[in-house]
Amino acid sequence: MKKFTLQPVADKLNELLGAGKVAFAADITGEDAKAKIAAMKDGEAVLLQNVRFDAREEKNDPTFAKELADLAEIYVNDAFGTAHRAHATTAGVADYLPAYCGYLIKKEISVMGKALENPNRPFVAILGGAKVSDKLNVINNLLTKVDTLIIGGGMAYTFLAAKGYSIGTSLFDSEKVDYCRDMMAKAEEKGVRLLLPIDTVITADFPNPIDAAIEITTVSSSEIPADKMGLYIGEKTRELFADAIKNAQTVVWNGPMGVFENPTLAAGTIAVAKALAESSATTIVGGGDSAAACEQLGFADRITHISTGGGASLEFLEGLELPGIACLQNK
Ligand code: AMP
Repeated sequence: MKKFTLQPVADKLNELLGAGKVAFAADITGEDAKAKIAAMKDGEAVLLQNVRFDAREEKNDPTFAKELADLAEIYVNDAFGTAHRAHATTAGVADYLPAYCGYLIKKEISVMGKALENPNRPFVAILGGAKVSDKLNVINNLLTKVDTLIIGGGMAYTFLAAKGYSIGTSLFDSEKVDYCRDMMAKAEEKGVRLLLPIDTVITADFPNPIDAAIEITTVSSSEIPADKMGLYIGEKTRELFADAIKNAQTVVWNGPMGVFENPTLAAGTIAVAKALAESSATTIVGGGDSAAACEQLGFADRITHISTGGGASLEFLEGLELPGIACLQNK
């Protein structure tokens, strides 16, 4: 527990804002919090102890939400990264106080909301990452919104298998083959261009450790040998994807194009990050890995918006209502 105390956060805030500006309450809604709040002067803040130290937080217990609300006059939520969870401090407290979003949530929902509801077109979405199963509803929802859907990373191989290609020992989700087939049919029916890797970089084994030196070859996506695995998108695919991005007016990207943790296998993810950085479109990046790739490559300031919420941004792309946003009055 001790390592999750917010005391160091209070210390840092005092260092940044000037000593004595932020008092730290050793409890959440107890005597110390009440005393520190009562002693507060204009321009000062009180940081409560980590709310997850109280089991009622994650249960969204109304008694806890009410205790918190009794400490305040107004509730401002600016934590987009937890807005997909209905906890006492992310949703419950709004039942007892006037509730508003802060500038970050405002930016998240206005940039991503516009992209989904009223995008400048062409609208291109790029999805990657390991598993199809993590993005089932995202794919389904985006197919009703985008002009082009690009699928790369580990999840692309189940789509390639659904097309009848042999994918060797690449990542494969046998239970999602029918789903991939349905999504390809849906793309056709909706007139959405669905782009899958046309070539793929293969190796004999998954690198172990993940950043170990590794020998690679590039083959056509339809010709992956039985004993080889695809670990990222080939050069022709990188060009194909970059071209689609170049012509877009709105681009949303979530998930790496391969095992980017290994420097020999990072070029696919770098190519997508670079294409976004060079694009004049509204560019939105969600998901920790893709966001980190943009930051590490120094492209972050050339991306319109890097979402601060991995899970929350995925649920947003799924078209779900986020409880931490739905409860706010002035979104
Ligand atoms: P996710 O957590 O779903 O965003 O997936 C990110 C992880 O997927 C990263 O750790 C990547 O190394 C991994 N990944 C991406 N492409 C592949 C692939 N072709 N084979 C195996 N793992 C992959």
